[in-house]
Amino acid sequence: MTTELMWFRRDLRTHDLPALVTAADADRLACVFVLDPHLLDHERVSPARKRYLRQALVDLDNRLGDLGGQLMVVLGDPRHVVPALAKDLEVDAVHVTADHTPFAVARDDAVEKALADDGRTLERHQGVSIAPPGSVRTGSDSVYKVFTPFHRTWTQRDHGEPLTPPAALPRAPDGVGRIDTVAPTEVPQLDVRGPDEAWPDGGEGPARERLDDWLDGPVDDYDDRRDVLGVPGTSRLSPDLHMGCLSAREAWTRLDRRNPGQDTYATELAWRDFYLHVMAEWPDTARGAFREEYRDLPWHDDDDAFEAWAEGQTGFPIVDAAMRQLSTMGWMHNRARMIVASFLCKDLLVDWRRGEAHFMANLVDGDTCSNNGGWQWAAGTGTDAQQFIRIFNPTTQGTRFDPDGVYVRRWVPELADLPNNRLHEPWRLSEEDQEALGVIIGEDYPAPIVDHAEARQRAMDWWSQAT
Ligand code: FAD
Repeated sequence: MTTELMWFRRDLRTHDLPALVTAADADRLACVFVLDPHLLDHERVSPARKRYLRQALVDLDNRLGDLGGQLMVVLGDPRHVVPALAKDLEVDAVHVTADHTPFAVARDDAVEKALADDGRTLERHQGVSIAPPGSVRTGSDSVYKVFTPFHRTWTQRDHGEPLTPPAALPRAPDGVGRIDTVAPTEVPQLDVRGPDEAWPDGGEGPARERLDDWLDGPVDDYDDRRDVLGVPGTSRLSPDLHMGCLSAREAWTRLDRRNPGQDTYATELAWRDFYLHVMAEWPDTARGAFREEYRDLPWHDDDDAFEAWAEGQTGFPIVDAAMRQLSTMGWMHNRARMIVASFLCKDLLVDWRRGEAHFMANLVDGDTCSNNGGWQWAAGTGTDAQQFIRIFNPTTQGTRFDPDGVYVRRWVPELADLPNNRLHEPWRLSEEDQEALGVIIGEDYPAPIVDHAEARQRAMDWWSQAT
């Protein structure tokens, strides 16, 4: 008789989950989620993400219940909890969905070793990405460093068909009653409330509904609307994909790539896989620049500038709108992420890793690989060929991607009455107009903390001296 353990992590679903399908063949099966204190750390994990996690665990428990199983939630460090649990329940094998961040790899290696010392195995299955990290390779058998050729090869690959959930789960081993579990709804650190409607409900159920709604029409307009900041033109599925409440492979297989909107959407899913490949192959990227020659750049330690940026008080409406969207919603539009990241690294010359950490602590979809990839793209230290010279002008970006000012007016309400032609550069309003509109620059809304043209030049000079 075989007894096995399914250890859920960032794969909180029942659909298209190879680890669960394999584990379901055992004679006895226990399912566990280990609530590592690291997941409750408020400096690293956003409130929106904690709430999402709590709901996702409840949803998963219900779904496993429908299949005849149940989810145990155990508090503690998985490196101790999982081997101890495996021993207590006398399991033969522990099944997981492989995760590829350096943190996860080190944790899983430690668990694997502890299990092996006891004659048990850790079985790692595919399921976070569409193509397993490391599997999309160049003709000379290395991992791609550039997205475009990666994408070409990735697209030609057969990623397989999504798996249906097991019809039923085996009975739990007798010892589960002895295990000290917690109800996710009773963990105080997970009991966080957000602004109404701003945070997505967590769990496979809500995530699948969002996917259905997205594929049922809006995705067709993705090509035209994905860069317009003031409309809901993107899927907002990033937290669902990050927590694994949705299988990226399932989302991908449901696309009709003859449709331009759906094809562009497929490319974005490929970016996610690309950054997973990069992190898995070059784990040092998590700590510093992908390009070795940019690891010791003399970034400025300007705390005041960083604070102004983080609080949405830079005096650049598009930057401030985006940063306020982040602090309220725990989410930010992709175009806005690129704008604020460029502003921090280039206009302010602040180390991209500070921005990366701030995003992780505030995003509901905070993802080590995509976040790191996005920040290094913006800072010019990553895989991208364009390097540092791509410096976004926040005013031009605002007028181009928020032409009617819908986004700025929503998130920077003190500017709501400004005419469109001044909305993205309110410092150009005459004193009379400021009086008439009731917005005094420097009092009601900050004066810009830098002159963009000067900051741009400063950045270019800094870069040529530093490299
Ligand atoms: P859609 O436009 O609907 O895209 C579909 C899916 O494709 C997304 O849900 C996401 O899983 C993936 N995707 C889209 N764009 C990218 C991209 N550039 N890189 C990797 N995957 C992508 N994404 C995260 O999931 N977590 C992060 O922590 C994160 N940090 C970022 C930081 C910076 C500085 C930048 C520039 C980008 C970051 N991204 C991150 C990528 C992207 O901004 C978000 O995935 C996207 O905005 C999520 O919204 P959506 O689901 O509506 O995206």
